[in-house]
Amino acid sequence: MRFPPLPSPRDVVHLYKLQARKQLAQNFLLDMNLNRKIVNKAGKLAGSYVCEVGPGPGGITRAILEQGVEELIVIEKDPRFMPGLQLLAEAAKGIESGYANRMRIFQGDILRFNMENLFPKELKKDWKDEPPNIHIIGNLPFNVSTPLIIRWLEAISTQTGAWRYGRTPLTLTFQKEVAERMVASVLSRERCRLSIMCQYLCDVSFKFDIPGKAFVPPPEVDVGVVKFTPLKRPLIELPFPLIEKVVSHIFHTKRKLVKNCIPTLFPPNRPDLTAQMFEDADVNPDILARRLSVEEVGRLCHIYNIICQENPGIYKYNFRDPEYIELYRNRRSIELAKIEEQ
Ligand code: SAM
Repeated sequence: MRFPPLPSPRDVVHLYKLQARKQLAQNFLLDMNLNRKIVNKAGKLAGSYVCEVGPGPGGITRAILEQGVEELIVIEKDPRFMPGLQLLAEAAKGIESGYANRMRIFQGDILRFNMENLFPKELKKDWKDEPPNIHIIGNLPFNVSTPLIIRWLEAISTQTGAWRYGRTPLTLTFQKEVAERMVASVLSRERCRLSIMCQYLCDVSFKFDIPGKAFVPPPEVDVGVVKFTPLKRPLIELPFPLIEKVVSHIFHTKRKLVKNCIPTLFPPNRPDLTAQMFEDADVNPDILARRLSVEEVGRLCHIYNIICQENPGIYKYNFRDPEYIELYRNRRSIELAKIEEQ
């Protein structure tokens, strides 16, 4: 479908004199072929409900509208883009435009935006069913997209926000390096905390990369487009904060062996708990952290959970907490004093 009345993102930028703001890390994608390519990777959008984050001058927005969606909801922080987005919404409205799309515009910060009741409740699907007819799409600044995906992964794990409606898929852009880490397999040097956190909850696929020079102004790095579809059953069935804690210890330093990362989960006077982790989880302590499969990480998380239940206070233990460091120092000095006395 190709209809003339929608203004191009380049027209919107010129019409409203929209200079990209460096402090908001704004890099516009004005090439409609690339905008359409991103939108195509989200899947079939005709008749669906789409939420776009950070529409800016509206390149992706226009490509979404071209698909004949039932409703498009956009959330944009910068008020300068509101008139251009209104123009797009007006042009897309009504049968005579050829689109007959509805577009709702919210001005606000996506990090504070609640998607809990954003879509009609009739769209709700059971988690074990196919994904609902809802899509989340966005080209956000890198400093927003990475913390946001962690927040959204937690919402996926609790089936809240946009995931109250079922396994809502996401198609988002990231700094290419970050995108590669998200999909990194057990054989990859890029594998890290983010790989496990994404992969235990979602089917994650790297769709394609976009050279930095395709953006206006060009960022210093290239960009990767990643699609996330929540899994019917997460590969680790435990609370997100517990998994995040264990995973962040495991990947404390990428080059470290697992046996050097796990002890920081426990007070220094409990080396027995580290030994129990490896033995009960049946994990080789002499391999590099990045060589662990999601299943092995899952087993470590399960044993950690059991240890925490059997040993009150262990979950709260934080080796960086000054209180514990002090406690450890005192205990060490008492132990040393005892040795000296002998
Ligand atoms: N989607 C447009 C494109 O591809 O040309 C703009 C991309 S630009 C990298 C990121 C957009 O996200 C900007 O319009 C910016 O104002 C918006 N943005 C930045 N932080 C945001 C936030 N916290 N919430 C909502 N929008 C945000």
